[in-house]
Amino acid sequence: MSASTASLYSKESLYSLLANSSEIRLLYLMPLAYSQTITCVTEHWKLCEKPQYEALSYEWGAKDTKQILFNGRPYDIRGNLYHALFNLRNATTARVLWIDALCINQTDLRERSHQVAQMGRIYSDATCVVVWLGLPDEACLKALDMLQSKEEYSARKNFELDFTKILPLLRKRDIAMERNQNMALELLIALSRRSYWTRLWIVQELCLARRLHVQCGKYSFSWDRLKDLVMLKLAQGSEAAIRPLHYSRMASFCRKCPQFHPNSNFRTPLYLICWFYGDGNCENVLDRVFGLASLAHDCCQKAVPIDYNSTIDDVFARLVGHSRTHNSWYWEPINVRLLERRIKGRNYQQSQPRLWSFFGR
Ligand SMILES: [Zn+2]
Repeated sequence: MSASTASLYSKESLYSLLANSSEIRLLYLMPLAYSQTITCVTEHWKLCEKPQYEALSYEWGAKDTKQILFNGRPYDIRGNLYHALFNLRNATTARVLWIDALCINQTDLRERSHQVAQMGRIYSDATCVVVWLGLPDEACLKALDMLQSKEEYSARKNFELDFTKILPLLRKRDIAMERNQNMALELLIALSRRSYWTRLWIVQELCLARRLHVQCGKYSFSWDRLKDLVMLKLAQGSEAAIRPLHYSRMASFCRKCPQFHPNSNFRTPLYLICWFYGDGNCENVLDRVFGLASLAHDCCQKAVPIDYNSTIDDVFARLVGHSRTHNSWYWEPINVRLLERRIKGRNYQQSQPRLWSFFGR
């Protein structure tokens, strides 16, 4: 970051206007060596210029605020994002990120609309999507230490592939390993209970990502590592022990993300994506359909156009009307009612285990 660029931001406005809807802002998270205070500046880029950046997938979380230095000024951000920046900061080089709360001028509604419409592209063009799960609690810390050392070990010795094969054997022989096994299961269950997983918008953020990395406090590990552990635990554990993990949204993402990627062999009908994830938390109930549309079949996107002037009843009627054209046994009246309750209702936790068991693993 040159001195002249930095000086651009010490003027009146925190943001300079984006030239048009094809431009985005990228955030330069300055390294620890630059300043102890968390310091960020934004720069404009066109997506067609193929900038290299990582996109953050996180939840806004509680409204407690902490101060950073943003575009040359003290600026309050929510606690969860503050902790993410604190832990993502490099030692000596700036880290280039796209983060909705800072890269979009949230007070400019026009800009917000066109930037939100681009989010699918922003997440699919990112070199990596970083899943921020928040700070670890006491229960997670010990197990994360264990997982972290395995991760480093596998990175050094390319151990990961064999790991899944030999682990069941090791488990039989080695009591210490069994203790580790239980610890790993407890960790996965604790991670799966994080409220991050209940957000609706993470569905597209996770499914569109070219590469995914998970960060929990200072600990980071690859998505594949998490996925392998989840699948291994689900295959190994007793039914009662794995039940909380089995029915978790985290495990569902581990199973289904590749299937919902637009470049996978078949695009999924929208009603099916809504069936799995339409009960996610979002501020506008319409997002339970619109927030998933970018992952769906083209015919569904045309039949259920994104229009925030619609009512949820209209959108649901359009979704059902169109979905009947996809021949499927799902269109029993009882399933239509269940889908309706899933999208329109708020009480999703109550109905989740029964519905999800319906689909098996
Ligand atoms: Zn369709």
